[in-house]
Amino acid sequence: MSFEISPVSSGGIHLTYQCPNRCAHCIYASSPSRNEWMTEENLILILEQIKQHSQFLTGMHIGGGEPFLNLDLLEFTIRKMDEIEVPLDYVETNGFWAWEDQKTRRILKRMQNAGLRGLLVSASPFHLEFIPMDRVNRAIRIGREVFGPDRVFIYTNNYYDQFQTLDPKITVPFDEYLDELGEEHVVSEMVYSYSLIPGGRAAIRLARLFTHQPASHYFGETCAKELSSPHHIRIDPEANYIAGLCAGLSLGDARQLHTIYNGLDLTPYPILENLAQGGVEALYNWAAQEYGYIENPLGYIAKCHLCLDIRRYLVDKKTQFMELAPIGFYSELD
Ligand code: SF4
Repeated sequence: MSFEISPVSSGGIHLTYQCPNRCAHCIYASSPSRNEWMTEENLILILEQIKQHSQFLTGMHIGGGEPFLNLDLLEFTIRKMDEIEVPLDYVETNGFWAWEDQKTRRILKRMQNAGLRGLLVSASPFHLEFIPMDRVNRAIRIGREVFGPDRVFIYTNNYYDQFQTLDPKITVPFDEYLDELGEEHVVSEMVYSYSLIPGGRAAIRLARLFTHQPASHYFGETCAKELSSPHHIRIDPEANYIAGLCAGLSLGDARQLHTIYNGLDLTPYPILENLAQGGVEALYNWAAQEYGYIENPLGYIAKCHLCLDIRRYLVDKKTQFMELAPIGFYSELD
């Protein structure tokens, strides 16, 4: 089967999966123990490929993991994007590095001199478990000073405003936050204001907060639309090309984008083939028949949760499917 994937319109280049945090919501399962990093050689090849296929591209961002963990690589990436003419919207950060005014200003000026024009700073109860608001506030305040008031985005403003009444020096365990505000309120904010994606670590660590349904509840639709979408794609440190929602599932090698955009032959990738043709229903039936996958009697919170559970089972069974990548994702979900 030849699967058509539209050339990228927007997305992120992830320089690493390493992060000082191990956030409960992290779709990419980033953590301090992940050690995948983009090499300079791969980065240049990927940027040249994006440039070649940029007919619909509006902009890319730099993300992770936490890209500010390696300032030299971050600066190199910003310079190369400018040089190769891949439009850069912003760098995404949790602000962990902003613990002192002068140092924060020096880092941001350095990135601005390299070509950076904007910043996206995370503010959420998941980040608040690890990063006190003092640092988030500083990254935003000095970011606005350096890039201008309209060039610093906060995800989300709602959480940022809510946390301004807290002691800025403290972190807050998620369960304490949950007890304080009540489960119903917290869940509603996560879904409607934060647009929580029920995949990756979120599907494992936050599942207890959501209604579970049997596998068959999610049958009847394919994942062709999600897998072929040109929006919010990700290119990871191992050069995996990943559709926006589908962490842990590689569509191919981003150093050779023509192999992805010229009609992808799914025959060597049975997991992708099942999902693209028959959705989680086809994946479930195939995994049950071929590998003995058994439905979780507790159910699943979303189709992406079911998909993840099957893929995780296949990795645990030591199967070797090329599309189950990066493999480090599957051991960092808890
Ligand atoms: S079910 Fe799997 S393939 Fe489909 S959108 Fe979710 S993660 Fe992607």
